[in-house]
Amino acid sequence: GPAALYTTQYLLKHLGLNPSTKINVDIYEKLPVPFGLVRYGVAPDHQDVKNVIKSFTDTLRNEQVNFFGNVNIGTDLRINELLDAYNCVVLAYGSHSENYLNVPGEKEFSNFVSAKSFVSWYNGVPEADGFKLNLSCKRALIIGAGNVSLDIARILLSPTDKLSRTDISHGALEIIKKTNQIEHVAIVARRGLLNAAFTLKELRELSKIDGVECKLDASQFDEIEYERTVGKLARPRKRLVEFMHSLATKSATSSAKKRLELMFMRTPKEILGSRETKAVSGASFKLNKYDVAFSDPNLKLDDEKHLNELKLVDDGGREERIDADLVIRSIGYKNVNIDESIPFDKKQGVVPNEHGKVLGKEGLYCTGWIKRGPRGVIVDTTSDAYETAHKICSNLTDPAGTSLLA
Ligand code: NAP
Repeated sequence: GPAALYTTQYLLKHLGLNPSTKINVDIYEKLPVPFGLVRYGVAPDHQDVKNVIKSFTDTLRNEQVNFFGNVNIGTDLRINELLDAYNCVVLAYGSHSENYLNVPGEKEFSNFVSAKSFVSWYNGVPEADGFKLNLSCKRALIIGAGNVSLDIARILLSPTDKLSRTDISHGALEIIKKTNQIEHVAIVARRGLLNAAFTLKELRELSKIDGVECKLDASQFDEIEYERTVGKLARPRKRLVEFMHSLATKSATSSAKKRLELMFMRTPKEILGSRETKAVSGASFKLNKYDVAFSDPNLKLDDEKHLNELKLVDDGGREERIDADLVIRSIGYKNVNIDESIPFDKKQGVVPNEHGKVLGKEGLYCTGWIKRGPRGVIVDTTSDAYETAHKICSNLTDPAGTSLLA
C-alpha cells in the first residue's frame, strides 16, 4: 500500500543510484494486486487521492523493484526467514482488523454491517464477494463519526449518475442503482462536537450533495457556549466547528428530499432488531454531556490534547432509541500482529519503534498505520514513510558513508 510504496520511493532516491549502495526492493502483498488502501480504502469518488497510483506504478516498473502478490506473510513466509534473506525488512501491512462495539445485539441481526466490509464492497475487494446488504429501505444509521462514516454517507446519498462517473465497483453500482431507497442517514458520535473525528473538507463535500440537507441540533452550541468557546480553538478545529454551526443555524431547504443528520453525545448501548425476522431495527444509546465549565476564562481548548481531556458524564441517565433499517458500525480499524516473532504492543496496537526502527529486532523496520496506529490521511503516510526510510538509509551505511549492503 501507500506506506510501502512511499518508503520504496525514498529508498530508491537515496540508495538506488550510487553503485555502492544500489538496492533491490522486493514487495510482498497478501492480495494479488498492489496499492492497498489507495485502491481498496479511499472512496471511489476521491479520484484526486487515487491519482497517486500513477506514481506508484512508475515505482513498481523500476527494474530494482519486484512485486510478489498472493503471499501471506506469517503463513507462507515467516519474518525470520525474510530477515535471513534481506539486509532489512519493513513492515507496512497497515490495519487488518476493525474495532467492535461489544454491545448486545452486535452479532445477531441482518443489515447490521461493518464499515470495513461496506468499504470493501464498494471498492471491489475480492474478499467482499458475497457481501449482503439491503438498501431497499429509508433510514440508515452509522455508528462512529470519522471520515470513513462520511465516505459511506456520501455513497449512500449521492445521485447514481454521479456515482457512475467514479471508480466504484460495477457490482456495487448496479445494486445501488436498482435498490437504494435510503433517504435519511444519521451519523452518531459518542463525544461532543468539539471532538468530532471527521474533517472539514469531507463534511463540506457531504453538505454540497444535490438534494441533501445536512442537519445538526443547534442547542448543543448553546451548551458549549459557542461564541466564547469557538474563539479559543486552534484554526482547523475552529473552522470545522464554525462550519457545523452554520449547518445547524441554516434554515431548512424545502426542496431537499434526503437528509443527513449529525448527532453527538451518544454512546451505543444495544443494537436492536426483530427476534422473529432477525432484521436490524436501530440502536439504543446512552446520552452524555460535557462536564466542563465553558465559562471558565482559564479553560484551555487550543489544541487536540486539551480537547481530548474534556470530561464527559452521563446526561442524567437519559437514553434514546434511533430507528434504522440499515445500521453500519464505523468505529475505526485495528492493528494485528501477523507473525509471533514481531514485537507488538497489544495495548497501543502498534509495533514499538524508534523513528521506524523496530525495538528489539535487528534489521526490522515499520511504516504507516502499523507504526503509528490507524489514523491519518495519505499525506501523513508520506512523512512517516520518509522517516522510516531515512532511518534505514543511515543504518545501512556506516558513518563514513560506506555501504554495508554487500
Ligand atoms: P476514526 O477517525 O478513528 O473515527 C472513528 C470514530 O468511531 C470516532 O468518532 C470514534 O469516537 C468512534 N468510536 C470508536 N470506538 C467507539 C465505540 N466503542 N463506540 C462508539 N464510537 C466509537 O476512524 P475512521 O473513520 O475509520 O478513519 C480512520 C483514519 O482514516 C482517520 O484518520 C481518517 O481521517 C482517515 N480517513 C480519511 C479520509 C479522507 O481524508 N477523506 C477518508 C477515510 C478515512 P471517539 O473519537 O470518541 O473515539
